[in-house]
Amino acid sequence: MQVLPGQQESLEDRLGPPQTDKDIVLAQYDFRPMNDHDLAFQKGDKLKLISDKGDWWLAKSLVSGEEGYFPQNYVARLNTLEEEQWFFANLSRKETEGLLLAPGNKPGAFLIRESETSKGAFSLSVRDMLPDSRSLVKHYKIRSLDSGGYYISPKICFSSLQDLVKHYTRSADGLCKKLTVPCKHPRPQTPWAQDTWEVPRETLRMVKKLGAGQFGEVWMGYYKNNQKVAIKTLKAGSMEPEAFLQEAHLMKHLQHKHLVRLYAIVTQQPIFIVTEFMENGSLLDFLKTAEGNSLTLPKLLDMSAQIAEGMAYIEQNNCIHRDLRAANVLVSETLQCKVADFGLARITESEYIAQAGAKFPLKWTAPEAINYGTFTIKSDVWSFGVLLTEIIAYGRVPYPGMTNPEVVRNLDRGYRMPCPDSCPPELYSLILWCWRNEAEDRPTFQHLQHTLEDFYIATEAQYESQP
Ligand code: ADP
Ligand code: MG
Repeated sequence: MQVLPGQQESLEDRLGPPQTDKDIVLAQYDFRPMNDHDLAFQKGDKLKLISDKGDWWLAKSLVSGEEGYFPQNYVARLNTLEEEQWFFANLSRKETEGLLLAPGNKPGAFLIRESETSKGAFSLSVRDMLPDSRSLVKHYKIRSLDSGGYYISPKICFSSLQDLVKHYTRSADGLCKKLTVPCKHPRPQTPWAQDTWEVPRETLRMVKKLGAGQFGEVWMGYYKNNQKVAIKTLKAGSMEPEAFLQEAHLMKHLQHKHLVRLYAIVTQQPIFIVTEFMENGSLLDFLKTAEGNSLTLPKLLDMSAQIAEGMAYIEQNNCIHRDLRAANVLVSETLQCKVADFGLARITESEYIAQAGAKFPLKWTAPEAINYGTFTIKSDVWSFGVLLTEIIAYGRVPYPGMTNPEVVRNLDRGYRMPCPDSCPPELYSLILWCWRNEAEDRPTFQHLQHTLEDFYIATEAQYESQP
């Protein structure tokens, strides 16, 4: 198309021929803009896509006519499965169980996801309840016919997944439960704007103090009155601002679904660190709640595997955590675990060591790190072993009844924490492996992740159910 000089190229010119459904997305949630170039919309609005790269997409609203950016996870493509409340595209079996068992879902809650193992195939997952009131998730393979059409039981075939859902909503017809309502979607996290790193203090509003640690306080708050975040305040004078900023710059590139995301910082003293907000707080506190206390062995193993996965990413990136323990793992609304505070300990090291008696987490620290200050990913593996004992004993303090100096003295003599009650022997031997004297004899986090995942699958009795 030719654009005459002086003539503004219109949106239509840029977009070419009339829209196809492929370019139209449907808002699944209201979106309140945070920046000038953001596009406001309400649930149900249709938007015409201009660019769909990365976390932030660009579109023109077919309601307001405005153009702007919005988070990709707020919309679904029109006339596709994405539009269905019960469709979850990329969800593993593990994540599915986490979502369906999360508070807010009742028996009969369900979802359809793409199969992990066979491409192009789907699975139906349904929350069920046993006579003793325990909840569990059943998974059914949805098979497809070459001629088109889907079925769970060859007795009855459907032309679409929508029809299949309708059928099993009317009657269980062999499933564990009649389908009731789609699984609750976790509220979409607004992705952090990529170019927002150093933010003015005024953009942050502190709402509720969540706790205090050795570095300062932690608050729940809002960024630009819109995005819920956690704000960590660092005690003035507790560190060199330059050293901190340098380290934080490295830390912000460590992004993984099992690491708490570092969003932004306020660079003047007192320094603020803005991170992803985690609804269920620290794993240590969570394990001691009624909900945490009722977690079963498979779920505890699943959480352990998630933490190992986050740490395997740190390992891969040649970084070191230095302060791994249940208090530094945070739990999301859907009970996903994420590792927090990686790298922070190093920056504040001098003060940290100075506090030795009171706050230094001696019971988690590897002997070579205590004795010679040698912190490596292998000293993190040691700490992970201690963290596993915290998980399996629902937040019990490690080496109960022993003082810090007693622990150090005994470890040097070859003593190790005995197997906690309720800890399966296979898990205890993995823990002992993390506590080998020679750092290089300890397993990698990658190995720990895979072993824990396998162990989780083995203890999880439910496999694909048959109608
Ligand atoms: P510590 O790690 O010694 O417990 P922190 O200062 O790191 O101290 O954190 C204090 C408390 O604040 C945590 O135990 C947790 O309850 C809460 N907290 C920290 N970060 C977050 C976050 N991102 N989301 C929600 N709660 C958090
Ligand atoms: Mg912490």
